[in-house]
Amino acid sequence: MKNRILVVEDGRTFRSLLVERFTQQGWDVVSCKTIAQANDVLSRENEFVCAVLGYCLPDGPNGEVIDLFLEKDQKVIILTSKFDQAIRDQFIDKGVVDYILKKSMKSVLYIIPVINRLIHNKNHLALVVDDSKLACQHVSNLLENQYIKTIQASNGKEALEKLELYTNISLIIVDYRMPEMDGVTLVQEIRETHDKSSVAIIGISGFEDYHITAQFLKAGANDFLRKPFNHEEFYCRIHQVLDMNEATSNLYKLANEDDLTGLWNRRYLFEQSKVNPNVEQQCLAMIDIDFFKEVNDTYGHDAGDFVLKKVADILTTHFAHSVIARVGGEEFCILHCGEYQHFVKQLDLMRTFIAQEEIIFGVQKIKIAVSIGATDIHGTLEEQIKSADRRLYVAKKCGRNVTIDS
Ligand code: GH3
Ligand code: MG
Ligand code: MG
Repeated sequence: MKNRILVVEDGRTFRSLLVERFTQQGWDVVSCKTIAQANDVLSRENEFVCAVLGYCLPDGPNGEVIDLFLEKDQKVIILTSKFDQAIRDQFIDKGVVDYILKKSMKSVLYIIPVINRLIHNKNHLALVVDDSKLACQHVSNLLENQYIKTIQASNGKEALEKLELYTNISLIIVDYRMPEMDGVTLVQEIRETHDKSSVAIIGISGFEDYHITAQFLKAGANDFLRKPFNHEEFYCRIHQVLDMNEATSNLYKLANEDDLTGLWNRRYLFEQSKVNPNVEQQCLAMIDIDFFKEVNDTYGHDAGDFVLKKVADILTTHFAHSVIARVGGEEFCILHCGEYQHFVKQLDLMRTFIAQEEIIFGVQKIKIAVSIGATDIHGTLEEQIKSADRRLYVAKKCGRNVTIDS
């Protein structure tokens, strides 16, 4: 579903500019000019990522629209033509996402990353670690206010347990002073298994612990915050570490994933084998789509691409716990840890499934089949691939749509 943004602004030029730029981002934009109209929109729907609100509107010249939106639990970005620090602080404390000066085109360019941050926040799960329930809840509320989901832990041991349980935690906020295990020791422990790019950590320490900040960073925290902090500083730090981590994970994806199918690429497969050389009971299969050139020739290249994605999905559902890579145009590799005969059985079940499946592309119904070469020889990844490739060649010679496993 598209992200929806509500714009409430009476100035025609600025409103049109916002609508145009937001639409270019691929967002669905609803716009109106007055509080009355905004109220009307909110009574019909409230599934907006956020609302961008003019401070001064014809039926509310002093920011009346803002409280109305905050009361309805909407995320609010304020647009104003005059800067007033006191008003700004007051609204930031109330939970407004940002307060932006409506000066020129540039302010529109500033709003877009703020909204993008909110949208991306929905993908993050944060673990808040503090022995003070109150402090834990305060930090959690700040994060949830900007769509970051949270879980809490009241000490280091519990934090490590939660981290193991919730594998999608991407951010940890940890206080220094805690009984049993202090925050710095906890960060050291976490870094044994989770690097900076997979889980971002922000350490928190009181003013009196000024030397702790360096210890946090040396232990592997991405950043730190001194207590007491204001909301804006808090969000700046959070946004910065999340921006950085998303950029790193995008680079990682670009380097290791196949663009078309989202499977791993050849490079990742070989990296894996360096990390885990000669794992016991490691078996491997090479899978090649039969007569794939004909699929392209008959139905077109787009249909061919669609078939490749479909095959990737089928591989992923059948081998959810294995490493699956696209290693060539219509060639895939599965690296599997487990009993070989069971693996071969699973491969053959999948092969039969693929041969029976009709792939629907527009009005076309496309039938395909795959040939499979499997191996469990002991050796390097290169040797296993060679062995599986030889068997795949035999499978093709035997007439295709078969699995050769010895
Ligand atoms: P065989 O049963 O012997 O494997 O025959 P085949 O036609 O599948 O094998 P061949 O190697 O002759 O052809 C592979 C085809 O895969 C040719 C190439 O155009 C197509 N191909 C490779 N990469 C892509 C891709 O990313 N998208 C599409 N649509 N086609 C691709
Ligand atoms: Mg082929
Ligand atoms: Mg091929």
